Amino acid sequence: MRAEDILVPDPSGVCCKLGGFHIDPTQPVPRALITHGHSDHARAGHGAVLATQETLDIMRLRYGENFAGSTQAIGYGESIDLGGVRVSFHPAGHVLGSAQIKVEAGGLRVVAAGDYKDVADPTCAPFETVPCDVFITEATFGLPVFRHHDAQGEVAKLLHSVTLFPDRAHLVGAYSLGKAQRVIALLRQAGYDKTIYLHGAMEKITAYYQSRGIDLGPVELVRGAKKSDLAGTITLCPPSAIGDLWSRRFPDPVAAFASGWMRVRARARQRGVTLPLVISDHADWDGLVATIAATGASEIWVTHGQEDALVHWCRSRGLKARPLDIVGYGDEEESENPAPAEGGA
Ligand SMILES: [Zn+2]
Ligand SMILES: [Zn+2]
Repeated sequence: MRAEDILVPDPSGVCCKLGGFHIDPTQPVPRALITHGHSDHARAGHGAVLATQETLDIMRLRYGENFAGSTQAIGYGESIDLGGVRVSFHPAGHVLGSAQIKVEAGGLRVVAAGDYKDVADPTCAPFETVPCDVFITEATFGLPVFRHHDAQGEVAKLLHSVTLFPDRAHLVGAYSLGKAQRVIALLRQAGYDKTIYLHGAMEKITAYYQSRGIDLGPVELVRGAKKSDLAGTITLCPPSAIGDLWSRRFPDPVAAFASGWMRVRARARQRGVTLPLVISDHADWDGLVATIAATGASEIWVTHGQEDALVHWCRSRGLKARPLDIVGYGDEEESENPAPAEGGA
């Protein structure tokens, strides 16, 4: 059996004809297996959805009760049979509930990793290497220039700035699913025990993380807080809120942004960010190539991001590699495509 007999890329995503399902389809399909809750992977309107309980809950929070015809939850390590194809979910270390999906038939093992990172994150289960024959990887930061810093070190920079400017508010731009909660958890790990404020857009997801037992300490909505009370505090908000009217409620705000793209100075400047924090929920270049090697796969498919360098790296190692060119991934979160001037170097 060849990999293409198990999974084929089609306009809706990656399709398993044998099992009758798609993985992270970008258009409505009868049966979808979803790796995680970010909106470029998890869309509303499918017939049946199979995902981890957390991913299903997050989809429900974002899209409402009727986001799919029916749902089925699957735990990490659990496997089920779909039309003679064996399917199992494994931790991807990306956001709460994120999973790699392993598909096995005729002795061939294919793993679709979705988005992933191979570094510690106090808010989700750690990435697990799943040995396979074909590994389907993202390439959001698939250029050697992308080497993420140590996240704790970045959070230390933020705390240092708070100490330096006790009369100013610190606004930290962070994506509302995953990154915001991780930054809060990292602040707690660093010993910061004061109330952390939230933009309203992060309320539901953050409360959901807490309901799943992730300790984020005291968090409060910034809505209603007095301007003078916000001096010396930290507030998490969507990146787009940093430059808008909303930010005027804060005393002399310091603009920070937690993203892998903050490795690119021009991008920080463009957004008016004075305190860039290189904290990413995607593997960096070293993480991508180390993971590819660790799976033992002889064939690599690259779904989205900066495919060229990664495909080239694989081929230079004697691995078969191909870009999948699926349209529709990378629309949310930090998978957004960099401007040409930033990405090409
Ligand atoms: Zn994602
Ligand atoms: Zn993505």
